[in-house]
Amino acid sequence: MKSPFYLTKEEMKSYGYKIVDIIVDHYKEEEKKKPVIKASRKEMDSIFLTEAPDNATDADEVLNFVVDNVLPNSNISTHPKSFSFVPGPSNFISTMADSLATGFNIFSGGWIVSPAAAELEIVTLNWLLKMFHFPVTKGGGIFTSGGSMANLTALTTARRVKCGDDFSKAVIYLSDQAHSSNIKAIRVLGFKREQIKIIPTDLEFKFSMNKLKNEIARDQLEGKKPFCIIASAGTTNTGTVDPLDDLADICEKENLWFHIDGAYGAAAILSKKGSRILRGIERADSLTVDPHKWFFQPYEIGCLLVKDASWLSNTFSEKPEYLRDIEGNESEINFYDYGIQLTRRFRALKFYMSIKTYGLNAFKKAITYNIDLADKTEDILRKSKNWEIVSPATLAIINFRYNPLNKDLTEEEVDKLNQEISTRVVDSREAFLVTTVLQSQVVIRMCLINPKTTLKHVTDTLDQCEVFAKQVLLEWQK
Ligand SMILES: *Cc1c(COP(=O)(O)O)cnc(C)c1O
Repeated sequence: MKSPFYLTKEEMKSYGYKIVDIIVDHYKEEEKKKPVIKASRKEMDSIFLTEAPDNATDADEVLNFVVDNVLPNSNISTHPKSFSFVPGPSNFISTMADSLATGFNIFSGGWIVSPAAAELEIVTLNWLLKMFHFPVTKGGGIFTSGGSMANLTALTTARRVKCGDDFSKAVIYLSDQAHSSNIKAIRVLGFKREQIKIIPTDLEFKFSMNKLKNEIARDQLEGKKPFCIIASAGTTNTGTVDPLDDLADICEKENLWFHIDGAYGAAAILSKKGSRILRGIERADSLTVDPHKWFFQPYEIGCLLVKDASWLSNTFSEKPEYLRDIEGNESEINFYDYGIQLTRRFRALKFYMSIKTYGLNAFKKAITYNIDLADKTEDILRKSKNWEIVSPATLAIINFRYNPLNKDLTEEEVDKLNQEISTRVVDSREAFLVTTVLQSQVVIRMCLINPKTTLKHVTDTLDQCEVFAKQVLLEWQK
């Protein structure tokens, strides 16, 4: 009997080439498309909701249906006018690399199963270790699905190393600007609310050092066990980097684990300006970096780096009898011993192939360009009587709001106005530009990590914002 999934060689090629054509056309034409999609559950149900079919459908028919209905009903995170959250600029080489990894269905869990996959993970992690001035021989790491899983893996390791099995008195410190995935990870690990200390930030959105020191001292006096500080190297809101050297000093003095969440921002180490801002990052015990953000990789690839690889293996090794035949020698790493997953897709391949193909200089150039673009955007906004900067361009993120000098708006009106500008821009679908809240002010946030974004994309969007702002003020008769 032929497999029920059998296709002829010709059928497979014709189907595969069609998909490559669709992807390439999308790359070449995405700019003509609108980056934003809005659809309700009801609308989506009306297109897609069906029972699983018992009988076959023609392959092209299914593919065409997907091309017509699925692909256009998602935001385009690679679009040059996709400014919100942290966009995913991606790149074509890695896209194809992912197809190869999936095509061969390579299992990236154990050395014996796929030595080359494990080796490429080791090699590319070494590139990252070197980039961040971590020790290459002693240090180590693992690729994860994203930053959230990297943070969870880091905090699990931190707790294991610093607290062993008893973490009843353990306390962990992070700032009010730390990414929500850290809190999620801490909750997953079973810490109680009173074991999590959220420290306020200062006017620049950095860890307030004085408040942190006071809190640690008080917890020690009360007999608790401070064990970990989570710093941000590029907060999601403002791109702010915490005072890494000062935090590292405290961690050294108090014997705390130093975790740095650099999911989006750490990549800036490849630029001159970024490496200055990130000074001290090499002092972390563990560092989260998300290649699917500012290393231009397609989803999913996150990464955790640690100073000492044995911390990971001591935390995550379990030795069940069914895995005993694939235990190799120690230098032959089984990545299932370094993290939570056993079966893992081959994430290292896209990172490897894109860096080999384009060269690190291309990445340096792109990241430097992004940082400069945000600086230029800041200059333009500062010259206008209508805009004010709320948080200056930092690691390619900038926050600003429309607040014309001659209108004398109340705080509440400015908040409403900026919310309304963002809503109208998103409704127009021309740009993906949403707000955030900083020090109780509603502000518009732009994250400019896409190398395809030009200054004109930015100024066109700002012009559009101004048109909507004037429209709203007219409606308010202001
Ligand atoms: C995006 C982000 C995360 C979460 O990463 P995912 O890849 O979305 O899971 C964590 N921390 C920071 C600072 C981020 O920007």
